[in-house]
Amino acid sequence: MKNNQKLTWNQSREIRQGKGSRSMKIRVTVWNEYVHEREYEGIRKNYPEGIHGCIKKFLEKNADIEVRTATLDMPNQGITEELLSNTDVLIWWSHARQDEITDENVELIKKHVHAGMGFIGLHSAHFSKIMKALLGTTMTLSWRHGDSEKLWCIAPWHPIAEGVPECIEIPEEEMYGEPFDIPKPDDIIFLGWFKGGCTFRSGCTFTRGLGKMFYFQPGHEEAPVYEQAEIQKIITNAVRWAKPQKRLKQAPDNIAL
Ligand code: ZN
Repeated sequence: MKNNQKLTWNQSREIRQGKGSRSMKIRVTVWNEYVHEREYEGIRKNYPEGIHGCIKKFLEKNADIEVRTATLDMPNQGITEELLSNTDVLIWWSHARQDEITDENVELIKKHVHAGMGFIGLHSAHFSKIMKALLGTTMTLSWRHGDSEKLWCIAPWHPIAEGVPECIEIPEEEMYGEPFDIPKPDDIIFLGWFKGGCTFRSGCTFTRGLGKMFYFQPGHEEAPVYEQAEIQKIITNAVRWAKPQKRLKQAPDNIAL
């Protein structure tokens, strides 16, 4: 093995500073399956430009954030090495066809998270192949359509909770309930209480490799939840929180000393 193949974390760090006049904005990619919005008129009404279009729109109002979008119907399912190596935070919404994501793409995303890319999984993405691969549990939960939610902020000190009210009312939301089979989170920031009586760990953080992860439950497609200002605030905060502090060129490897 060549000497230069064994690099310490610091040596292999990709340093973004000093690359000429390149933008130092947080580079976000919003990946959306983009199936429901095209299949159902009611859902298209909620998100005429797709869920990804809605999220892009509100994130782009922030001067420190730039956004690209990708969808399942794009070549290679919208996922490329070029895209991910130029993404600081990947936001992921998927549901109906999430099992179609190729194992190669799952591995590629996992590698980038381990190397420091932030990852935000939204709503039904709890059951995506990538979240299962990163967290290693079944990611199962209980669910019921046609509920409403009170989203309680239980960690007001957390950066993702900055400027977020103590309780947010979501008038129409799919109920996700415990037991939610996830590994123990680093922090639980939001607890969901549903009118039907169930509760849920609705906003949790994890660390995998150098990557920061946030799972956020709200966002069932049958109501325009991502148009709600408080929900937009949480996702915007999460982007700023999840941006890499340190980014490697590859997933960490053993270091021979
Ligand atoms: Zn749903």
